[in-house]
Amino acid sequence: MNKNILYRNIPKVDVLLENPQIVKLIEKYHRDVIVDIIREEINKLRTFIKENDDISLIEEKTSQLVENITKSTEKIYSYNLRKVINGSGTILHTNLGRAIISKKHANYLSEVVTNYSNLEYNLEEGKRGERYSHFEKLICKITGAEAAMAVNNNAAAVMLVLSSMAKEKEVIVSRGELVEIGGKFRIPDVMKSSNAHLVEVGTTNKTHLEDYSDAITENTGALLKVHTSNFKILGFTESVSLEELSKLSKEKDIPIIEDIGSGVLIDLSKYGLKYEPTVQDSIKAGVDVVSFSGDKLLGGPQAGIIVGKKKYIDKMKKNPLTRAFRIDKFTATVLEMIFHEYLNEENAIKNIPVLSLITKDIKEIEESAKKLYEKLSNLKDAADIKVEDTLSQIGGGSLPTEKIKSKCISIVPKNISTTSLEEQLRLNENPVVARISDDKLIIDMRCILEDEIEILAEKIINILK
Ligand SMILES: *Cc1c(COP(=O)(O)O)cnc(C)c1O
Repeated sequence: MNKNILYRNIPKVDVLLENPQIVKLIEKYHRDVIVDIIREEINKLRTFIKENDDISLIEEKTSQLVENITKSTEKIYSYNLRKVINGSGTILHTNLGRAIISKKHANYLSEVVTNYSNLEYNLEEGKRGERYSHFEKLICKITGAEAAMAVNNNAAAVMLVLSSMAKEKEVIVSRGELVEIGGKFRIPDVMKSSNAHLVEVGTTNKTHLEDYSDAITENTGALLKVHTSNFKILGFTESVSLEELSKLSKEKDIPIIEDIGSGVLIDLSKYGLKYEPTVQDSIKAGVDVVSFSGDKLLGGPQAGIIVGKKKYIDKMKKNPLTRAFRIDKFTATVLEMIFHEYLNEENAIKNIPVLSLITKDIKEIEESAKKLYEKLSNLKDAADIKVEDTLSQIGGGSLPTEKIKSKCISIVPKNISTTSLEEQLRLNENPVVARISDDKLIIDMRCILEDEIEILAEKIINILK
């Protein structure tokens, strides 16, 4: 097929620059950027012509050129990273930014970062200070640890701990704890990157104290415990308690390191969840260094928090990796505020969104569901809509088998497919993330904030009406 005529039908850049719609774009935005976009869109069209033989399809694409230039321009001039309405029911959704922080905390953050701050300045002494100083004492008070610091995330924390305490040394880990947390974080690989030598002991389901003690040599640098956050082995299992391991560690003078994952600081069983060992439990049991995430159950910013004996934390603060992994002022500010809330458990539950969402009263969730249901009452001809029971999950690899009772709105559209409804909700300026189950669109109301109900209703009405 001779496609020359099709190529020739593509308008030239000069011509496009005089198209009234594009003239408007140039007035609103920036000429050079628009010229680049025009070239890109023309190239895309040329590739399309090269790869396709359907003339009517090619003509259609060609006629959409100005429209596509406009869309690309508007896309480039708007922020891509934005708020999403979370109808998934997963509280710590890794793909949706994990822990959200409160408006109160965000407002104070904005005050700190839009001004100069004492991030690394000791105001009392009028000289250089430490960025961990703002929250180190607080963390110690809450967890019972001697010292604390924080890096960018828990993966970095584990690397820093191993590299500071067990470089070129053997680290003993139970086979049942050689986990992959996701996003390429695998204990054996982290070990390699930190230049620590992995010594696996026990079996997948059972590890005994002798397995550890038999593996200790003069080259042992540490005993490592890893919280198997995102999976559970059931049945014929056995692992060694922190208390037992701590006794062994003291006898042999070898430190215990623990990667506890989520960093729970309160007793979640009071709120109807399974008891999840806290950071305080580990410190009390005699663990020398504990690391955990800032943005899982702790409910703060992305960070890796390290607590434990001062002599080890001091070593880590001097490790060159700390400079590479260090937190910025955004994280430091929010971490301090989050730990402040933990001074009083009631405040933590009330002011840390992750904890409020986990402990949210089912009646409150049902009320949100009914509110949304009522706003959708005019859609009876367009869809079957119901308030139903559902189960939320915590997510972020925390308490993987734990499901929390919740309420949802289920929608079965009559004139479009459920997948189309899901897609239209997602491809929105204010995207909504929902799930499909049994051909029904399910919007779990647990993580829908009060002021989002109206917006959500409007969107659904616009799509279905
Ligand atoms: C989540 C998790 C990590 C990784 O933490 P990030 O903060 O995501 O880097 C490491 N170890 C365990 C046990 C975890 O649960």
